[in-house]
Amino acid sequence: MHELSIVMSVVDIARDQAISHNASKVDKIELEIGSLAGVEMAAFTFAWKAGVQNTVLEKAERIIHHIPARAKCMSCQHEFEMMELYSPCPNCGDYFNEVIQGRELRVKSLIVS
Ligand SMILES: [Zn+2]
Repeated sequence: MHELSIVMSVVDIARDQAISHNASKVDKIELEIGSLAGVEMAAFTFAWKAGVQNTVLEKAERIIHHIPARAKCMSCQHEFEMMELYSPCPNCGDYFNEVIQGRELRVKSLIVS
């Protein structure tokens, strides 16, 4: 389950941040997850519960910002929200588009104490 490895890398980031601020725990963490990041939210929530035990994130409030996917058409330069990868451009129907948003998977902010 790759969601668990994602949670473990978030735990690593949080621990490094806590150490560098002489903090012992994280009170709040905000994550950004793009709709094309390949994260299945039910699996992620399950992995989170298991993965944060006995870590600085154990009691942290978790806020997830879901980032919708956006693409730019290579043919007509139209920008549009993409429901899934390889959607055609709604303006001209072309499939050649560049993903400009939606692959995010990152820690946006952390509050430590
Ligand atoms: Zn187009």
